[in-house]
Amino acid sequence: MVTALDQPSDRVTGLEAGADDFLTKPVQDLALFARVRSLVRLKVMMDELRNRKTTGTSLGWDDDDAVVFDTSVPTDGTILIVDEQERVMERIAKALDGVGELSFMAGGDDAAERAREKNFDLIIVSLTMRDTDGLRVCSKLRSFEETRHVPILVMVDDGNTKLLVRALEMGVNDYVVRPVDKQEFLARVKTQLKRKRFADKLWENFHLSMQLATTDAVTGLYNRHYLTSHMDTRMQAAQKHGKDLSVLMMDIDHFKAVNDTYGHAVGDLVLKEFATRIERNIRGVDLAARYGGEEFVVMMPETPTDWATMIGNRLREEVSDNSFDFELKEGAISITVSIGVATSKDGQTPAQLLEAADKALYEAKAAGRNKVIVAS
Ligand code: GH3
Ligand code: MG
Ligand code: MG
Repeated sequence: MVTALDQPSDRVTGLEAGADDFLTKPVQDLALFARVRSLVRLKVMMDELRNRKTTGTSLGWDDDDAVVFDTSVPTDGTILIVDEQERVMERIAKALDGVGELSFMAGGDDAAERAREKNFDLIIVSLTMRDTDGLRVCSKLRSFEETRHVPILVMVDDGNTKLLVRALEMGVNDYVVRPVDKQEFLARVKTQLKRKRFADKLWENFHLSMQLATTDAVTGLYNRHYLTSHMDTRMQAAQKHGKDLSVLMMDIDHFKAVNDTYGHAVGDLVLKEFATRIERNIRGVDLAARYGGEEFVVMMPETPTDWATMIGNRLREEVSDNSFDFELKEGAISITVSIGVATSKDGQTPAQLLEAADKALYEAKAAGRNKVIVAS
């Protein structure tokens, strides 16, 4: 919305009618560019989220509609204000009443460092502090991992265009000119908070899709697809550094009988408990995956064959010696597992290594099950 300087009541009407921001005539280039950039970023973020939402829905995920289509102003934002003048901060607090939770910091060269400690949704920095270099605070905020994506709004004195241009070049998101117009200030703050909310949601969405794409829903372990691509990377590293990488291929014995006796739901519980026992018995660098129905693989970097065999036997005993108790009236379920062990050789692909382990597993089955056999 474009307004004239002498029409504050028009602005209020315009903002209440749904305008996101306004420019005051005569319109300056710098102001125009900053406004346009800020609002375009907000729109891009909203569009992206809506596209993801459409994809998610067609994949059958049930996501929260409310957040995606919510264009209202967040009222739970956390805002940090960095300014040396207490009086200014009091006025800001009044202007931002009801927009979120405010924190204040009275300047200081370590302002950016302290801002890292809390997860803010917006940081407002005065560029005209006496003892603190506001520009330096902004540049640090942009360089720290924790604050890199937090929107920054700066307050600058009227006419200090040079300082403002430097701030915008540094990646500051928007600005207000002192003396600060209350409505203008509120509009800018709201836009930044909205953009932050969409950005957070997108990020969450990204993590969720990563998780869905790489993990098995029943056991929470990695899936076969993740295992094979990760193995590729780890095997190349192992071969380059001349280290041993071993895998265990495991298959629950007579699992069909578990399903037949107790039902599929209890079968799922067994798979879950089995996965938990695997994870309890391996190291953090090892990777456990559900390879198929009741087949599991553990990949162990920097592990020679005899260690891998020992770990395989430990897992085998952990299963055979401790029955699976789900407090069923039929009592606890006794199961066993057969395991094939293989260690990578030079030039071997993940598929070849897994095939070698699978052969050994087959031999373990043929030899009477509840056994660990090393690939020949
Ligand atoms: P073996 O000792 O030769 O491995 O015998 P087995 O019965 O374990 O092997 P088989 O391959 O004949 O049967 C595997 C069974 O695993 C059949 C299938 O219904 C069951 N299964 C596969 N995936 C799941 C699952 O997600 N949940 C449940 N409950 N059962 C599953
Ligand atoms: Mg089986
Ligand atoms: Mg099987």
